[in-house]
Amino acid sequence: MLDGCGRVVDYLRLSVTDLCNYRCQYCMPAQGVPKRAHREILSIEELFEIAQASVACGVKKIRLTGGEPLVRRGLLDLCRLLRAIPGLEELCLTTNGSLLPQLAAPLRRAGVDRLNISLDTLRPERFAAMTRLGQLSEVLQGVEAAEAAGFSRLKFDTVLIGGFNDDEIGDFLDLTRQHPWEIRFIELMPMGPCSAWEAHRFLPAQTILERFPHLQPLQPQGVARRFRLPGAQGTVGLISPVSREFCAGCRRIRVTADGRLKGCLHSAEELSLRNLHGQALEDAIRQGILQKPRHHHLSQRPSDTTRTMNEIGG
Ligand code: SAM
Ligand code: SF4
Repeated sequence: MLDGCGRVVDYLRLSVTDLCNYRCQYCMPAQGVPKRAHREILSIEELFEIAQASVACGVKKIRLTGGEPLVRRGLLDLCRLLRAIPGLEELCLTTNGSLLPQLAAPLRRAGVDRLNISLDTLRPERFAAMTRLGQLSEVLQGVEAAEAAGFSRLKFDTVLIGGFNDDEIGDFLDLTRQHPWEIRFIELMPMGPCSAWEAHRFLPAQTILERFPHLQPLQPQGVARRFRLPGAQGTVGLISPVSREFCAGCRRIRVTADGRLKGCLHSAEELSLRNLHGQALEDAIRQGILQKPRHHHLSQRPSDTTRTMNEIGG
């Protein structure tokens, strides 16, 4: 359906948990987040109902996210339920990849169409320092498991962070020479723990084109500008929420793990979907879509949301 500004909204990012087995420095506090009472987090049945009602409102693509979606109990059951919703064209999932060695094949069998794997560095020590609890080797094994399970054209999401991984841009680009992958560089957004980071950490994605001018432009896809190295199998995506706001083309709504619909990642506005069913749930989702904010204000100030990214779902 169309939102209040005439934009088509057909993409739901559904957060299935706010918990995570990593503590990425820009996303979560070092001590993690307090574990909430079971009843505060949407049950598998509620997640399914919200997905069904969203599809009735025009959603065609759902991405499961978190926190880390693969730590959510019942995730495979949820995927099977979602995959069977008539009218849902694509079921995707964004993960840190650490649990893919065990879960890639079951996820594929449960009907997940596409995976995005977050990967900010290719250097083991940096990876351990950034994620605080993770090891690069487990993610690399997860990538192998995903390909073996039949997930083709993997997408990698790499948050570009000045002084942390901007000296690895070339190494990431090199991955696209041999693999049919899309490496997507995402600008760091000032929210949660990183909202107070120094300015030099926040690099515009344009930096990549300035340093690698031989990247050849391709057709854009969704919110990503896309490029290819001459002769490479894979592609490169640039996602610039801060330096080149793409709100006019935004097709997304989000639902947090505690059941609140957000029309914009960076808005403080939320609409509770808890305890709503059937027509009432659909009406609330329609209202949330109609109220979707026109744009965010990241170019002027940090995010208006008081939530951290693991709660909203990236
Ligand atoms: N745990 C999963 C993962 O890491 O892929 C899914 C949830 S995570 C919040 C989704 C995405 O948001 C990840 O790619 C992460 O790097 C990104 N992210 C988190 N905080 C961010 C920020 N401040 N700016 C840009 N991207 C961010
Ligand atoms: Fe966890 Fe993903 Fe946040 Fe890292 S970015 S702490 S993996 S939710």
